[in-house]
Amino acid sequence: MKLLKSIEEVREYILNCKNKNFSIGLVPTMGYLHEGHGSLIKQARKNNDKVVVSIFVNPIQFGPTEDLSTYPRDLEKDSLFCESLGVDVIFAPSSKKMYPSNSISTFVTVNNITEVLCGAKRPGHFQGVCTVVSKLFNIISPTRAYFGEKDYQQLTVIKTMVKELNFPVEIIGCPIVREDDLLAKSSRNSYLSNTERQDALVLYKSLLKCKDLISTGEFITANIKKEMEAIIHSVSSSKIDYIDIVDTNNLMPVELINHDVLVALAVYIGETRLIDNMTFKIKEA
Ligand code: AMP
Repeated sequence: MKLLKSIEEVREYILNCKNKNFSIGLVPTMGYLHEGHGSLIKQARKNNDKVVVSIFVNPIQFGPTEDLSTYPRDLEKDSLFCESLGVDVIFAPSSKKMYPSNSISTFVTVNNITEVLCGAKRPGHFQGVCTVVSKLFNIISPTRAYFGEKDYQQLTVIKTMVKELNFPVEIIGCPIVREDDLLAKSSRNSYLSNTERQDALVLYKSLLKCKDLISTGEFITANIKKEMEAIIHSVSSSKIDYIDIVDTNNLMPVELINHDVLVALAVYIGETRLIDNMTFKIKEA
């Protein structure tokens, strides 16, 4: 496995692959890898001749009060993890390599579907994500790129960007990987104290409640949200950022569930902001 830190080096590697007609699977990450990332890498390994994992904590997708400086990093451990999964290349550029000038003036913006859910709470976040993913696509020219459904809105935004900007890359979504007690795996789980880690289970519990309610015929989203809120508020460390029930395609809020929906939530447990979601397929009457 190669660990490449410059754009020139990775471009040279990719050119070589393209000359041999190799397919390339890209897994973009911010590092501090866990089995969630691992599932994307395994899928990429299955479908492609070469697998590239990018590890880059992208400064422009963090808001001014967010955790850019404290975001967990461990390149050595990540390298061992990638090697064990048969990754061919880790691309781990510095911020200076990705953004050489002090101010960047070119951004990629996807409208509408970025104005709800996390996009409404984290202004500029998806612009930062789309810009860095576009840069990675231009540098690596992957055949396929892998994203987790854990960040459902991100996956939808990237699919839209790729379609509308004609990037020649296939976007593959991969299911959420959870801990044994069903908390969604996340690099940010490492911020949680032992009690907060326990408290964090309310996110999944509230989604299970939603599942129960829908299966017993409750389709009024305001009623469902009220019950989910009660579960979240059963632990004093929690603060709800949002709970939303939206159309799976356009991510617009729905009042009455009569087609497929995404139930998504962001909750602070102490200082740590966690997200989770579940999708529901509704049979047409
Ligand atoms: P991150 O390093 O948090 O930016 O995540 C990199 C990629 O891994 C994104 O596409 C995430 O959606 C995906 N990912 C993170 N956690 C999980 C998880 N628990 N299950 C599936 N995919 C995940």
